[in-house]
Amino acid sequence: MSKQYDYIILGSGLSGLLTAYRMMNDTWFDDKSILIIDKEIKNQNDRTWCFWEVPNGEFDSILTKTWEKAFIGNHDFQQSFVMQPYLYKMIRSSDFYKLVFDTISSKSNFTIITDEILSWKTIEDSVEVQGKNQSYSGRFLLNSFFNVDPLLNQKKYPYLKQHFIGWFIKTKTEIFDDSEVKFMDFRIEQEGNTRFMYVLPTSKTEALFEYTLFSEELLEKSVYEKAIQNYLQNLGINDYEIVEKENGNIPMTCFPFRKQNSERILFIGTAGGWTKASTGFTFFNSKKQSEKLIEFLKTNQNLTQFHQKNRYWFYDLILLEVLHQNNELGAQLFGTLFQKNSIQTIFKFLNEEGTFFSDLKVMLTLPKWLFIKATFRSLWKLV
Ligand SMILES: Cc1cc2nc3c(=O)[nH]c(=O)nc-3n(C[C@H](O)[C@H](O)[C@H](O)COP(=O)(O)OP(=O)(O)OC[C@H]3O[C@@H](n4cnc5c(N)ncnc54)[C@H](O)[C@@H]3O)c2cc1C
Repeated sequence: MSKQYDYIILGSGLSGLLTAYRMMNDTWFDDKSILIIDKEIKNQNDRTWCFWEVPNGEFDSILTKTWEKAFIGNHDFQQSFVMQPYLYKMIRSSDFYKLVFDTISSKSNFTIITDEILSWKTIEDSVEVQGKNQSYSGRFLLNSFFNVDPLLNQKKYPYLKQHFIGWFIKTKTEIFDDSEVKFMDFRIEQEGNTRFMYVLPTSKTEALFEYTLFSEELLEKSVYEKAIQNYLQNLGINDYEIVEKENGNIPMTCFPFRKQNSERILFIGTAGGWTKASTGFTFFNSKKQSEKLIEFLKTNQNLTQFHQKNRYWFYDLILLEVLHQNNELGAQLFGTLFQKNSIQTIFKFLNEEGTFFSDLKVMLTLPKWLFIKATFRSLWKLV
């Protein structure tokens, strides 16, 4: 009979490791046995995470870069914003993985196993997990494996994707202003979608250029890459080396992932709805959710009790309804939001930290007829 762990964490990506990190730093978990399983050994920089936050944040020691200014623009409106008190922060995933694994190595109650997991099920008061190499048993399962099927098998909640290809490029001469990110540059062909360029200059000679869409369908790889090439050409950047590439496909949806949870199994991360539905940002929300989760686990409650809907779920649903029905209007919509509100107010709103009235003010800056139609379409989804 295999050992029974107190907690099994499936996935040593962002949410799995954040949860583990918080358990390590909380003495309540010192006498609990925790098993982390992933099919990969996470020591590569497989993604870079950015998020906005005030200075002196929890992971500031491993930041690669911070920016104080952000540009947002479409064909009618362009502005460079000073984000103070916020900074836009960048973490390379390899630095995050290293920080967590280095801390785990000093903890004897943690076990890390590399295996591909095939299935899991609850049997009486334990969860049995079947891997390719062996089976595992735990009292509780925290699962970050994302499965797109439940999303595809429903029509109630709009499902868009934030999809992109990014090139990290290096130039011979100093051409970038590395004090400013291009958060959303919509001054590119929209072709019936919400398309923008996201640019993160990490030095005067290095920058990440990401061609990004919020839309239903993925594109051929060559389309993203051609768009990056054209954008660089329009900026007069012809002499550069591509140092690294990244790509992503992040679900944007208000689908109630919580319905997949059970007494002993809780989905976390993107799989648990920790991705901000209206933007695809996940890092900051996962930081907050994992903190909440640790406190919740200490109460020994049924895991179905963890998730609580808040008003932001409904705001996200309205925004997604608008983008889903009128995908070509994203450039105008985001332009208007940033034109009519301060960037600080929008960041607070998107971090789900606004007041009821400041949030409402943001929502009311959406074009009225779009807002009203989307609200009506969303209301029945509340039940
Ligand atoms: C390239 C890229 C850039 C991104 N940039 C940002 C950003 O700037 N800001 C932001 O907020 N968000 C960003 N995101 C979105 C989000 O932060 C990440 O996707 C984040 O990693 C999600 O965390 P997670 O724990 O849900 O999933 P993951 O980090 O993907 O972790 C899931 C883990 O499960 C493992 N796994 C899956 N199936 C199995 C199996 N059957 N057996 C064993 N192991 C398995 C995987 O190997 C993986 O390690 C980005 C995403 C990508 C892809």
